[in-house]
Amino acid sequence: AQELYESLRDKPAVSLDGRRIALMMNAGLMTDLPSLESSGAEGVGLYRTELQFLIRSTVPRRSEQAALYSRVLDAARGKPVVFRTLDIGSDKVLPYLQRPEEPNPALGWRAIRISLDRPMILRMQIQSLLRGARGRPLRVMFPLVAQAAEYFAARDMVLEEVENERARGRPVPSELRIGAMLETPSLAFAPDAFFREADFISIGGNDLKQFFFAADRENELVRRRYDTLDAAYLRFVDLIVRRCAEAGTELSYCGEDAGRPLEALALAAMGVRVLSMRPASVGPVKSAIRAARLDEARAVIDAALAEGAATLREALTRWAAEAGV
Ligand code: PEP
Ligand code: MG
Repeated sequence: AQELYESLRDKPAVSLDGRRIALMMNAGLMTDLPSLESSGAEGVGLYRTELQFLIRSTVPRRSEQAALYSRVLDAARGKPVVFRTLDIGSDKVLPYLQRPEEPNPALGWRAIRISLDRPMILRMQIQSLLRGARGRPLRVMFPLVAQAAEYFAARDMVLEEVENERARGRPVPSELRIGAMLETPSLAFAPDAFFREADFISIGGNDLKQFFFAADRENELVRRRYDTLDAAYLRFVDLIVRRCAEAGTELSYCGEDAGRPLEALALAAMGVRVLSMRPASVGPVKSAIRAARLDEARAVIDAALAEGAATLREALTRWAAEAGV
């Protein structure tokens, strides 16, 4: 199989019925970057910036952050990189950030909530991103956006910092795209204006599933109980796909399940055109997509949903076996 994946490395992920899916990789450390070449990923769909913060005992200086972002962009050699702003709290605790004890950390003070309440940290990171980009295209996204207003507030900070850099005579990105992670069900019901204005939306399936099913992603007792191929979850993904399509907004999926071939096929069949996954999954997912007709997969999903199936796993597994995917 490894040889097959290597032979596909420079080929696009196009299904038998001609649908092109962009396969990206998730990263968070400089050491992940060589995988961009070797995996055949088309870019970094999720760069987890918090890792640099987690491995240290103090906030990295602006110059250190900027140096890392610059090296990441150098290593990507023009392929797109989506930098996710600091996603801390819950399972990712910074020893040097004072925080109260929380009864439910997953539902607590985390991600963009911290960034909006302690704006200096986010501003410093944005300045670092702008300096690291040094005039190159820049993509930024915010984690755990639950309300449109949170996205707009964070986006305004980015736009203000761009103006500050410009006023200081420093280079600003040749292209700037600012997106939101959809990780709470509430954001799927945000006003149309949010979907129109966001430059892109990325489903963080790990968190979205946790909140959709009210099942802690860290808790072994419930973690595996609910499935990405659950009918209710796929109906929800369908709603998000439709809202993005109506607004003309690019949608990607960057939770772990985007890297599992059957789940990836289901997501692509539902209309998600960009999947971001760990590098080792790019080959297996690409080979599955190239062997499949997504319109067939979609028909299987629609028929099973219409019959009231609780999960799509059986129907899709049967279809994949018969279709030789
Ligand atoms: C997610 O929640 O799906 C995600 C991609 O982010 P993380 O796993 O870092 O929370
Ligand atoms: Mg998440």
